[in-house]
Amino acid sequence: MIKVLALDLEGTLINSIYNPMPRPHLYKFLEFCFKNIPQTVLFTAASYNEGVNKLNRLEAVGAAPMGTADMPVVKWERHNNTTTFLPKNLQFVQKMFPEVKLHEIFLVDDIEGFVALGQQDQYIPILSFQGSQATVHDTELLRIKDILVDILAGDWSVTRRGYRGFDVPIIGDKMEDKQ
Ligand SMILES: [Mg+2]
Repeated sequence: MIKVLALDLEGTLINSIYNPMPRPHLYKFLEFCFKNIPQTVLFTAASYNEGVNKLNRLEAVGAAPMGTADMPVVKWERHNNTTTFLPKNLQFVQKMFPEVKLHEIFLVDDIEGFVALGQQDQYIPILSFQGSQATVHDTELLRIKDILVDILAGDWSVTRRGYRGFDVPIIGDKMEDKQ
């Protein structure tokens, strides 16, 4: 079961916080999440204010449904107060929802390198959205919505399928390398 969905911002929901463009089908996607998943949170490298500002804006212009700007933002610790981010460890999300089990938390992100070791099965990869002309017909959010439908129906194999089905650059360690 999926109890919390953590969403990346840049490259996932919008292109970037500078001159942000909503990804096609963003409204439908978030509406689905808010309706079907107990909690949807934002897990982004953008600062809290930047993140919330952009969500406010998307909601205000009607590009995102009501509740978008109210999505809780995950507090993500940087490495020894440097600018280096740790992996997007879903334990940071769990701190916000202590009653939820770690395996009930999923992450949608365009950068696989952020995925924490041992949490690959909860990772739903999405192709990066750059906001260019070529991505006007992007349907990734609809594809992710269908994957969420499958996970909600109890099919756990789908994230694995998605994980292998993409040619995403691998930056971080992978579980397989450690076995
Ligand atoms: Mg991103």
